[in-house]
Amino acid sequence: MTIFYKFDGKMYINITNGCPCDCVFCIRKNGDSIEDNDSLWLEHEPSFEEVCAAFEKFDKTGITESVFCGYGEPTVRADMLIKTAEYIKSKTQMSVRVNTNGLVRLINKDFSIERFKGVVDSFSISLNAPTSERYNEVTRPSFGERSFDEMMCFARDVKALGIKTSFTVVDIITPEEIKECEKLAERLGIPLRVRAYVTDNESYT
Ligand code: SF4
Repeated sequence: MTIFYKFDGKMYINITNGCPCDCVFCIRKNGDSIEDNDSLWLEHEPSFEEVCAAFEKFDKTGITESVFCGYGEPTVRADMLIKTAEYIKSKTQMSVRVNTNGLVRLINKDFSIERFKGVVDSFSISLNAPTSERYNEVTRPSFGERSFDEMMCFARDVKALGIKTSFTVVDIITPEEIKECEKLAERLGIPLRVRAYVTDNESYT
């Protein structure tokens, strides 16, 4: 079962295969893993004990950054994410980034994002589209219409907490839509990165 794996010189963390979205570009549609790592489909959601045991076994030599990402939305297991991030920080000097759809407060009712303070160093949030309508077409969230606004609020709120925040879009939307996303991101003072859509899992960051 692959909980920790190396990619792009960083330690990636795979704590769940759960996700309330069904993005048209989701990497999970294209294979079972990233590069030559073992399958990222988990036999079961790992317990904290299993996460710690896997972390101890993982060769962390020279790695300075960790990224919660994997084959699912990490905030589906927000408690486990926070516990694991705290554990990593207690054992290493690694920074902690979370790649997320930004829907943690729809996924976990009454979740306070203050809990990320001091635990998560940066968020990379999938903006995906410039409008709610297009977002729903690209991201296909189970929460429907309210998802886009919630994702935007999440970005604004974690930035206000002082956590480094960035957006991503995948270039499956039109160049005009990418420009609109850039304007949206600029208005919030959040940098935007445009990711190339590939089907061979090479640009998984
Ligand atoms: S949010 Fe991430 S894991 Fe979920 S469907 Fe979209 S790309 Fe896949």
